[in-house]
Amino acid sequence: MLTSRIFLTEECLNIKRLLDDTLRHAYGSAKSEEFYKECRARLNSLSAQVDVIDETNLPEIHTLAIQIHILSDKITKIERSHIGELSWPFALVIKEMALEVCRESVAAANEEDPLFFFSANGGMFVYAVSPERAAALSRRRIFNVVFPRSFKYQVLLHTILGHEIGHVAYAYHELKHELETKVTSVLLHGSPFTSTSDFKDWLDKTYKLNLSDPALNDAFARWRQEYFCDLFGLLIMGPSFLPAYRSLFHLLDHTGSRYSATHPPIMSRYSMLQDALTFLSWEKWEGVDHQNLRQPLNSMYEPMRQHVSSIPAPMRILDSQQVEAATTALRDILKRMGNTLYVHPKPDELNEIVSALLSGTPAICTKLKVTRSKLKKRYVVNDPIDFRHILFAGWLTIYHDARDREELSLFKINRLCDRSILHQDAINTWTEHFEKEPVPKNVSN
Ligand SMILES: [Zn+2]
Repeated sequence: MLTSRIFLTEECLNIKRLLDDTLRHAYGSAKSEEFYKECRARLNSLSAQVDVIDETNLPEIHTLAIQIHILSDKITKIERSHIGELSWPFALVIKEMALEVCRESVAAANEEDPLFFFSANGGMFVYAVSPERAAALSRRRIFNVVFPRSFKYQVLLHTILGHEIGHVAYAYHELKHELETKVTSVLLHGSPFTSTSDFKDWLDKTYKLNLSDPALNDAFARWRQEYFCDLFGLLIMGPSFLPAYRSLFHLLDHTGSRYSATHPPIMSRYSMLQDALTFLSWEKWEGVDHQNLRQPLNSMYEPMRQHVSSIPAPMRILDSQQVEAATTALRDILKRMGNTLYVHPKPDELNEIVSALLSGTPAICTKLKVTRSKLKKRYVVNDPIDFRHILFAGWLTIYHDARDREELSLFKINRLCDRSILHQDAINTWTEHFEKEPVPKNVSN
């Protein structure tokens, strides 16, 4: 048998070869260098620990072996992530949003911005963002965003990732503490999810379940976080979060009341989200009676409202006033985080985007205009469309009575929205460059 030190030393050399073979050159973008450097720094740290390991300290050897295993696994996943398997315009906007959410925490902990890599896995329900809980070996975390492979262009369903970014926020200790105190505890106040003993009684009464203490504590923490992430997803993604969420979750549990150790019953989550929706006044949206908005808004929201009104009282677990207070608190926190808080578009603009999609064209309604600075230099001003407004318009197009269902299939609407986000990203990049570099006077365009 090889000694642990010899074995792990050899494995660290193997990982170095793996890194040199893959991320050093083959990843093919400027970002691969950042992944290479980060993984190399982690490997160096682990190798140094192997060099001085006490071979009689078996728990320490085990911990080190697991860390080396995880690094090798991560490098392999990064190597196998192919941006061509998913909607990369969407991947870019989701990365920007997640960065905004953790920016304050990263600065406070003296970390560097996390790195994101994107993967596509098999199955409809694989949406996930796997955040590292701590920057243990270096000052940088690596997050993996996972999309369903078959949903390459289904950007309207990708809004479900808003929920997953909630888990990213919870991965930062101080932020988690603030969110727990100001949002989650307020949201769940008066419910059976405020203490493990109340939770235990409720599980016994509702599901005739008697969990062991570790299982109870685990489910308690998970359920609380899941409620938070649902509210978070709604507030950062806007109305498009709901039809995506409901379409997927209905397939997972059509009864809505099934017990899961990891997630609260879906009916109770629908009910909470409906209360938040009502409080946000998105459903009524007073004064909006545009031709392309009112009918699809009603067609989208009404079945949800009816469904929630039929949910039995025992599954309407959270108090609507607590949902309102938590929504207000979370809005205030999100206002600190760049543009993460979803804000409704101007109705005229949304109407215009729906109109474009209905006629089968991508929504390019960005306002571009040329202005002159004091120095008489010309600058292009870009007033970009928020990707969430494009997705909202996409959903309204699906619900629009005037949609030609053969010509304008769900797939086509998704592709149009995907293209719209891509175009907007291209325009943003171009104007950013354009504004920095004044146009010479002899160039006209
Ligand atoms: Zn979750």
